[in-house]
Formats: sequence, C-alpha cells, structure tokens
Amino acid sequence: MCRNELLEDGRIPSAATLNRRAKPKAHWSSSEAVSALLPLSPGKGGPVADAIGRERFLKSGYCCIVSRTGLLLFGVMLFRYCLGFWLCVGLASAVRAGGATATALAVRYAPYADWQKVMDVDLLAGQSVIRYWRTAEEIAAARAEADLPLTGLHLALDPGHIGGKWAEAEGRQFRIAADDFYVREGELVLEVAQRVRAQLVGLGAQVTLLREANVRVNPKGPIDYLERAAQQVPAPTGASLAALIDYGLALRARAVRLSIVSGDLAERARLVNEVIQPDALISLHINAAAWPSSESVSESESESERQLVASNHVHVLIFGCMSEGELQSGRQQAQLAVKLGNDSGAAEHLLGAALAEALAAGTGLPASTYEGRNAIRLDAGNTYLFARNLLLLRSVECPTVLLEPYVANSVPVYPRIQAALANRATGAPLTEDDILVEYADAVVAGVLGCYADD
Ligand SMILES: [Zn+2]
Repeated sequence: MCRNELLEDGRIPSAATLNRRAKPKAHWSSSEAVSALLPLSPGKGGPVADAIGRERFLKSGYCCIVSRTGLLLFGVMLFRYCLGFWLCVGLASAVRAGGATATALAVRYAPYADWQKVMDVDLLAGQSVIRYWRTAEEIAAARAEADLPLTGLHLALDPGHIGGKWAEAEGRQFRIAADDFYVREGELVLEVAQRVRAQLVGLGAQVTLLREANVRVNPKGPIDYLERAAQQVPAPTGASLAALIDYGLALRARAVRLSIVSGDLAERARLVNEVIQPDALISLHINAAAWPSSESVSESESESERQLVASNHVHVLIFGCMSEGELQSGRQQAQLAVKLGNDSGAAEHLLGAALAEALAAGTGLPASTYEGRNAIRLDAGNTYLFARNLLLLRSVECPTVLLEPYVANSVPVYPRIQAALANRATGAPLTEDDILVEYADAVVAGVLGCYADD
C-alpha cells in the first residue's frame, strides 16, 4: 500500500477517485500479479490496505491478474501432470520390457532353468546394446525400386568345421566301405556355401565366407594350446613308458581339439563381430546320427562294421535353452545380455523360421526331435526350428542361424553323398537330385523368404 493513496483527511478514497489517480497497468508481470493478490488475503495490512488492495485489484486489471495467474497455475499443474505421466509411461514401459525379457527367458533362453535366481531381469531389460547389423525392414527400406531383391544385404556364411587333414580329428569323417569316398562334413558344406554365395551375389547381396578352403580359421595351432591342455588332461598314473605315451597322446589330442574346435569357433565369432560385421550369419552343417553299434571302434576297424541308420530329418537352430549351470557362467551371462540388449533374438527367429520352412520344402524331410532338455522347439507352427545354446550361436552378436539338414550316415543320404562326390571326382555333370545343389537352393530360398521384398 502507498500512503499517498489515502485522502488528505485520512478517509479511504473512493474507487472512482483511485481510478482517476492511477490508471491501472495495462500489463502485469507474473511476480506483480502474485504480489498484487497478497493484500486481498484477510488480516494482512488491515482494513485500509484491504480496501485499497481490493479496489486496486478490482479496478486495476482484475481479469488480467486472474488470467495470468490462472495461466501460471495451469502451467504448473500441466507440468506436474506431464511429469507424472512421463514417469508413469517410463515405469510402464520398463515393466513391459522387464515382462518381455522374463517371457523370453521363460520360453526360449532358459526354459528349463530357474533363471529368477540368477538373472536380474530389470537390469537386463533396461540396457540396450549398439548393433552393427540391420534388420530385414531396415535393409528393405534403403532399397530402390530398380534394385535386385537382396541389394543392401550383407550376409556371412560359415561352412561348419574344417575338413581336409583335420576332418578325422574333428570327428567329421567316415565311410562305410574302404573304396567309398570319405564323407567329410567340412568339405561338403564349403561347397554348399560357395554355391549359396554365387546365387545370392546374383540377387544383389554381399556375401562373406568365414573360410574359403579346408583350413583352420584359428591362427593358433595345437602347439599354442599345449599349456592349457596340460591343465585339463590328468597327469600320468605311473612312470612306465606305456603310461607316458598314453599321457602324451591324450595331451596332443586335447591340444588339437582346443585349436580346431573351441578355438576355431571362438575365432569365427570374433571375425564376425569385429571384422565382417554382417547383417546375419548362417552356419552350414550336415547332421549325422550316432552309429547304431560299434560306436567306440577305431577308424581302421570300423568301416566294415558300420551300419547306416534309417532316420533322416532336418532341423534349424538359433540361440537359447541355456541350462542353469550355463546361466551361472559370467561369460555366458554377458553373451546372453548382449543378445537380449541388441534384440538379435527376434531377427534370428525370423531368419531361422524362413530357412526352416525352405529346408523343409526343399528336402521334403520331416523335422528332427530332441530328447532331453538341451534344446527346445520354438514354434508350434514350425516344428523344424529349435533354440539351443551352442558356442557360435551364443557368441555371435548378429542374428545367427545354424542349419542341420540330412543325416549323412543314413540309408537315403549316404548314397546321395557318394554319388555327388563321384560326379565331382570324375567331372561328370551333376544330377538333378544332387544333394549339395538341393541344400544350396533351399538356403537361397530361405534367405529370399526373409530379406527380399514381398
Ligand atoms: Zn556339423
């Protein structure tokens, strides 16, 4: 209140007088608007102040004050509402992400394990990992009308195993008769990979093979693993020459396995993640069944005794189905976190389903079944697709699918492989039912099914 607003005789000026003396301000700042309201509060400033304040309030921009103050309050309320809404939405999406992660663990990644004890689902759901690969939608979106069906796709192909001089040590070499061709998985799938590449490149894709010959991908040879092998192989039980020879053989065998199996797989995964960085990886294999008898006989005595099996089937694998023990490994937990964080699971499920469908159609074979709990069938509608925790599937960050068509040591397949190898050895034209051509065509159809425009 200002003293000069009182009349000289101390009477309270009328509203009209006040109105004459001071024109109300046309505009009020928000702080002025708030302070202007204060004298109207009962008991503050006495009756004179109240009257003047009331008069001033009534005559000096009442509407302006109310509207601006209301606007301020409305703004504050809106801000609080938005903040609350944002927090609620954030919380809800976190709960949804946590729920989705829990569901993924329950149905795919650890369906037979008590993962609640081991995994912090909220922590897993809250992280996102930068990915080097693109989804089929992202690749298709960058494709022009005139482009080829697979333009923009960069695919890596892994011809499984090694073959050549390592095939026997890999346990991926056999024949039934001494004059048969050796069936070496690593060599058969290398040709399939080369055929797939030729077709996919013709369709516009870029294709990189993890190996171009029947040689190790791992630059480290068995000798580099001798120290680790010595930690894993039990020491000789005696000092006899026979015990020492046995120990030496066991040591060598272990070092070879470390180099050409686990070491080679780890190097393939490293190449994919750090060097090639494709949009997806397809690992090519041909399945084989346990021999019905004489499983433990040595290579030299086995050929005449081996009997082909009757069953022949197809299955396709993507990452999942970790056991409780595997979940407790810090390394495997980290790999699971990467796969969950970059969402490769959804993309590899789509690619796996497309390849499974194409292999089922291309081979006409039934789906495999898994006994036990080391794999789980993922779709009721696609019985060929399973989740399994294999080193390559777990450690490659981009969508990765492993194919296991045919049973190489089965009655229907073994003669087809022998015929295919004979034609290649003699340079004869390939037959219409050439098994490696059939395999390659099915892979191409599966890749088109996933990555080509509709
Ligand atoms: Zn294999």
